[in-house]
Amino acid sequence: MEVAENCSVKVAVHIRPLIGDERTQGCKECVTITKGKPQVQIGTHSFTFDHVYGNGASPSTSIFEECVAPLVDGLFQGYNATVLAYGQTGSGKTYTMGTAIKDGSETGLIPQVMNSLFKKIETLKHQTEFQLHVSFIEILKEEVRDLLDTEPVSKPATPNGNAVKVIVPGRPSIQIRESSNGVITLAGSTEIAVSTLQEMAACLEQGSVNRATGSTNMNNQSSRSHAIFTITLEQMHKIQSVSAVNDAPDEDMGEEYLCAKLHLVDLAGSERAKRTGSDGLRLKEGIHINRGLLALGNVISALGDEKKRKEGVHVPYRDSKLTRLLQDSLGGNSKTVMIACVSPADINAEESLNTLKYANRAR
Ligand code: ADP
Ligand code: MG
Repeated sequence: MEVAENCSVKVAVHIRPLIGDERTQGCKECVTITKGKPQVQIGTHSFTFDHVYGNGASPSTSIFEECVAPLVDGLFQGYNATVLAYGQTGSGKTYTMGTAIKDGSETGLIPQVMNSLFKKIETLKHQTEFQLHVSFIEILKEEVRDLLDTEPVSKPATPNGNAVKVIVPGRPSIQIRESSNGVITLAGSTEIAVSTLQEMAACLEQGSVNRATGSTNMNNQSSRSHAIFTITLEQMHKIQSVSAVNDAPDEDMGEEYLCAKLHLVDLAGSERAKRTGSDGLRLKEGIHINRGLLALGNVISALGDEKKRKEGVHVPYRDSKLTRLLQDSLGGNSKTVMIACVSPADINAEESLNTLKYANRAR
């Protein structure tokens, strides 16, 4: 495969509108956009990205068309891809990704990915055989949890008498493995074969319900965990020769096999851990989240820096579960889009600035 010519990491900023709380508190907007440019100002800082959405810039509905649709196309050509939503809790990551299916929230990126995927398959299925699998996992405190395994109790023993290992949400038992050709797999995670849009949407919904029920209070786990919805597309393309006599297809001449995956990642909240908290447990969790986001920032920054890349600088994938899991879908031939989500409210100015700095490092 050819190496993609332009930089494989694109960065977009999505600024949400002021929401209920912020309005009632009388917050002012502190994030502005340079008209006609993908440029954002906050205080005295100014940053330029590949795209900026919301808050008077191009409508957020074009995020899919401009940032994600090319990745879906790439999937059909065998390229892995990753979409990451980054930002503080409440900045709009889940809304942007569409990770949680709520009443009518069909506008998120994942539902749009699913729609376009099945439309494309429909137009190609006369010549290509497709197989789709989805998995949905969560990384919390450097442990991988399966969001699609709902078996509450143990299954019956297998015919040969072995007890079946049952993975219950919340019980970490998934291992990240790397094959000799660099393919990353999740041993022990549920991979569901889907053949319709409805089946895929059901997986998304089931996983997001499982994610939500794992959380207990306002400081819920979903803000401290990375949720990764992965679509794997396998294609068997029949190569036929056409008979010179009557233009009718001959016997199959051969087959071309392609397999690629798309990770759609709703990252943990980027806000700093409350180190002043008296609760030791919380401090530990905070540190772990930072490990994933820190490693991700380092990986993406190493990938985006052409000079470093040419010098063959080490890309620190192994520093966290998150980057390890995404290793074969970040950099190399794969395409990556990071969407930095920010609140425009002045009370969030500090975190919004941190988010823009982080995103800026990725370019
Ligand atoms: P996060 O996942 O980053 O914690 P959410 O996606 O849950 O944040 O968003 C926080 C709140 O803001 C939710 O009530 C959500 O509906 C609202 N919200 C987020 N983005 C937008 C947007 N672009 N337009 C309108 N409301 C939004
Ligand atoms: Mg969220």
